[in-house]
Amino acid sequence: MSKSLSDNLWAKQRRDMVRHQLMSRGITDQRVIDVMRIIPREIFLPDEHRHLAYEDRAVPIGLDQTMSQPYIVARMTELIAVDSSHRILEIGTGSGYQTAILASLAAQVISIERHENLLECAKKNLTRLQLDNIKFILSDGSLGLPTHAPFHRILVTAAGPAIPHALSDQLADGGRLVMPVGDMKEQTLHCVQRHGQQLHHTRSIRCRFVKLIGQQGWPESTID
Ligand code: SAH
Repeated sequence: MSKSLSDNLWAKQRRDMVRHQLMSRGITDQRVIDVMRIIPREIFLPDEHRHLAYEDRAVPIGLDQTMSQPYIVARMTELIAVDSSHRILEIGTGSGYQTAILASLAAQVISIERHENLLECAKKNLTRLQLDNIKFILSDGSLGLPTHAPFHRILVTAAGPAIPHALSDQLADGGRLVMPVGDMKEQTLHCVQRHGQQLHHTRSIRCRFVKLIGQQGWPESTID
């Protein structure tokens, strides 16, 4: 198949995904809709799973990790309400797909991943999109990045038993953090907003994420 024909087929799947999985389920933020119509999800997947790029599900990316279902990516991005002046801390680079969405909407993204292989692969994927406002860090993201704090937005794409204090401490005044919180099987998306010294907590939808493994997440001994 020619490259332009296959690009057109992917673009059609992307448009259908936005209509049937996002808009029909109540995603209304036009910036989120527009960016998810553009970013090619298929380039972030390993060859053997590329055909699942626009399915309504999470997709394996290797090392027992997954790229989240498109609806969850959209809902989280809508919940943290990014604007073009924001500096964002993302925990759990994974494939780099969510990173690409954030980097397209914000001024800068600092993305932390604990698996070196995934981080290197994500860097390559993101180079193809020529996004030059991303900084990658290999470390335990449950501790955040105090040397670069505060952040306007913090997005955690792995689930922990509670919101790490290290992360809420690194939120700027007026800042917002979104993270899945719960047990190892099922979680709820939590949203935290800082107003001075006060933290205001709200909850959104149920979800299932891979574990945040680290000092302020689940211990390494819980890896399956
Ligand atoms: N947002 C990603 C999906 C991430 S899956 C995407 O769009 O593809 C969750 C990721 O969090 C995995 O890559 C996992 O290795 C990473 N992770 C888990 N615990 C972490 C920690 N303490 N610090 C940084 N990354 C972590």
